[in-house]
Amino acid sequence: MTDAAHTARPTDEDDLKCPSAQPDFQDAQVLGVIQQDAGGPRLAYAAGHVPATDDVVSATGPVPPTLVMRFAGKCETGRCQHFRQGACRLVGRIVEGLDPVTDVLPACAIRRTCRWYAQAGAEACHRCPQVVTRLENPDAHLQAVADGPAA
Ligand code: SF4
Repeated sequence: MTDAAHTARPTDEDDLKCPSAQPDFQDAQVLGVIQQDAGGPRLAYAAGHVPATDDVVSATGPVPPTLVMRFAGKCETGRCQHFRQGACRLVGRIVEGLDPVTDVLPACAIRRTCRWYAQAGAEACHRCPQVVTRLENPDAHLQAVADGPAA
């Protein structure tokens, strides 16, 4: 993937994808596989477009797929609890509440159409690898970043 592909801005709001989607979202694809390192979970990004087919999603067996992988899918805008006043509030909380875990742009497959990148640019990408869609026993701070204020 070229640098231009890493930094290009999306051209159409309707094309934006959520980088922490459920596998049944429209146009879902595998964003990467979650690995554990000394600093916690880190996403190993898929090198290209890997559709979230039934076979891929079911391959994690009894383990929920969102514990093992991250998925990207069409941003659900107003149908999502995190979307208010025309923007994803989750990425704002991530940028404010989580420390960067890298100072480079990860080689992800969706930058041109990523909702988080469209809103927060590289600040989102520098924190993105530590995000896990399905949290198991998160600490209070991480839970607050995930949930945000009560509606
Ligand atoms: S936030 Fe950045 S690294 Fe994460 S999926 Fe979006 S463009 Fe890729």
